[in-house]
Amino acid sequence: MAGADDRAAGIFDMDWPQLKEAVSGCQACELCKTRNHTVFGVGDEQADWLLVGEAPGAEEDAHGEPFVGQAGRLLDNMLASVGLKRGANVYIANVLKCRPPGNRNPESREVGQCSPYLQRQIQLIKPKLVIAMGRFAAQALLGTDATIGSLRGKPHRYRGVPLIVSYHPAYLLRSLPEKAKAWEDLCFARRTMAGL
Ligand code: URA
Repeated sequence: MAGADDRAAGIFDMDWPQLKEAVSGCQACELCKTRNHTVFGVGDEQADWLLVGEAPGAEEDAHGEPFVGQAGRLLDNMLASVGLKRGANVYIANVLKCRPPGNRNPESREVGQCSPYLQRQIQLIKPKLVIAMGRFAAQALLGTDATIGSLRGKPHRYRGVPLIVSYHPAYLLRSLPEKAKAWEDLCFARRTMAGL
């Protein structure tokens, strides 16, 4: 059986159709047993903007598309407030491509198995800027266990690509006062993009 490095190396060689097929048939972790659909990602495959969330929820698992539930509607509204639109120079993906049962937190083994898919998506998209939404996306992409609060408002880099950290839209639904901070993050991202 191929080791983890061989598996990742194979994924890093894939083109879009191969990558989509690999994700839809993936059995690398237990989440394949409970998912209804894999959730690959959606949008412009040459987007300048890449937004990364955590993992599909129930509606995403039912539809196979990221951020189509309540958090997704908030995300679309927030994007619109800074002149951005899903699919128009924007790509949206998650760290995990399958829903954790009951929307529990991703486990580190699941993140480890799924991360090569996101890495390959980023290699293929070549975004100019990445926005990590929430703790899991920020920690997975930056390889840190720092808090969102300490990571927000500063420019970071993912393999050379500017990366901005913000709150997860699902968190904003529960903590409405933080919406203003998330909007600041998007404005910061806009300014960062403008300066590239
Ligand atoms: N939350 C996420 O992180 N991703 C989705 O696709 C939906 C909800």
